[in-house]
Amino acid sequence: MSHAVAQASPSPRPGRPQNNLLSATGTTIFTVMSALANQHGAINLGQGFPDYDGPEDVIDAAAAALRDGRNQYPPLTGVPELRQAVAAHNKRFYDLDIDPDHEVIVTSGATEAITACLMAVINPGDEVVLIEPLYDTYVPTVKLLGGIPRVVRLSPPHWELPRAELAAAFGPRTKAILFNTPMNPTGKVFTTAELAFIADLVTRHDTYAICDEVYEHLTFDGWRHIPLMTIPGMRERCMRIGSAGKTFNLTGWKVGYVSCDRSLAPNVAKAHQNLTFTTAPNLQRGVAVGLMKDAAYFRELRESLQAKRDLLGAGLAGLGFGVLESRGSYFITTDVRPLGWAGDDVAFCRTLTEEARVTAIPNTAFYAQPGAPDHYVRFAFCKNDALLNEALGRIERWLSKALPNAPAR
Ligand code: PMP
Ligand code: GLN
Repeated sequence: MSHAVAQASPSPRPGRPQNNLLSATGTTIFTVMSALANQHGAINLGQGFPDYDGPEDVIDAAAAALRDGRNQYPPLTGVPELRQAVAAHNKRFYDLDIDPDHEVIVTSGATEAITACLMAVINPGDEVVLIEPLYDTYVPTVKLLGGIPRVVRLSPPHWELPRAELAAAFGPRTKAILFNTPMNPTGKVFTTAELAFIADLVTRHDTYAICDEVYEHLTFDGWRHIPLMTIPGMRERCMRIGSAGKTFNLTGWKVGYVSCDRSLAPNVAKAHQNLTFTTAPNLQRGVAVGLMKDAAYFRELRESLQAKRDLLGAGLAGLGFGVLESRGSYFITTDVRPLGWAGDDVAFCRTLTEEARVTAIPNTAFYAQPGAPDHYVRFAFCKNDALLNEALGRIERWLSKALPNAPAR
C-alpha cells in the first residue's frame, strides 16, 4: 500500500536482498498516524480503538483464568470453552450449525485469521478477488503467498457493488474472494441481494470465500449483518472470521475466531500452527464468557456506538465536512472538499494532526491501485462523548483560522 506518510523501510545494508515485497511495504498507516498523534498531543480518531474498556465480566474472567493453573499451551484450535461459545454464537445469531470440535479455529486476532484462511487455500499463481477500499493487510498477504490480487473498486458515496466488474474479476484462476462486511472504512453493510450475487459467482467458479466479519455486531439504523455463510450453497465454501477486539471493545487482546466447514478447518488449523500455534488461554476464556452474554449486551453495543456516530457525524457536518452514511463499523468517512481544502487527504490528515491536534486516516491508505479518490478522510467514533466533543471544538477553532471561508460556518 503506498501512501506518502508511511515510512519506507530503511535501506537495507549491502548484501543479499531481503524479501522484496516486505522491503517495498511501508509501515501501516494506523501506526504512522498514531505516532504522529502522540508526537503532537492530538486526539486520536485515526486508528480504530475505543478509549473505554471492554465489559467487566469478560475482563474479570480473563484475570481469574490466569490464577487457576491453565497457563501452558492451550489446544491448537482453541480452548474448548471458546470453541463451544463460538459455535453457540453462530447458532444464536445466524442459525448456523457449527461443530465446535471440528469447525472452529481460534487465532491471535482476525489479522492472523485472514492470513491463515488465505494460506489454507491459496497456491502460487491463484487469483484472489478483493473489494476496494480494503483493509491494509489483504493485498500484501495475498502477494506474499504468491497469489494474484484482482481488485474491484466500490465508488462513493453509496459504495454499491459494481456487479459487472465483480463478475469480470472472477475467472478460471480465481481461488477465493476475500471481503469485509460490515466494511472498514466505508461503513457499508452488504445486503442479501449483494451476498446472493457473490454466492452465485463463488458457486459458478467453484471458489472459496474468506469473510472478514469483525464488525458483525457494530451495525446501525436497523441494518443487520448477514454472513455470506448463511446464503444457500455457501456453508461449505466460507471461512467466517470474527474478532473479540471489536465485539468486546478489547482491541489489544487479539483474539479472533474462524468458523468453517470441516473440510476447510484442517488446513486453516495447519496454517495457524505455522503462524502462532496458539493464543493466550486466559484471554480465550474471557472471550468465551463474552460470546455468551445476553441480548442486551449486543443491543447496547450497537446503540451506544450509533449515538457516537451521530454525535461525530452531525458535528462534522455542522463544521462543513461532507459526511457519508455509515451503517456499521467504528468509522465514518468524510469528504474534505466542501471545506475548501485544496490539497489531498494525506496532507489534510497531517495538517489536522499538527495544527488542529486531531488525527484521522486518509482513505487513500485503503486503496491498492492507482486512481483512488484522494479527498476522503476516515474518523473513528468509538470514543467517549467528551473526547468527541473536544475533537470537534479543536477542529472548529482550526477551521476558523485555516479555512475561514468554508461555507458551513
Ligand atoms: N479486518 C478489519 C476490516 C479490521 O478493521 C481489523 C481491525 N483491526 C482487522 C481485520 C483485524 O482485527 P484484529 O485486531 O482482531 O486482528
Ligand atoms: N483495524 C484498525 C483500523 O482500521 C487498525 C488495526 C491496526 O492498527 N492494525 O483502524
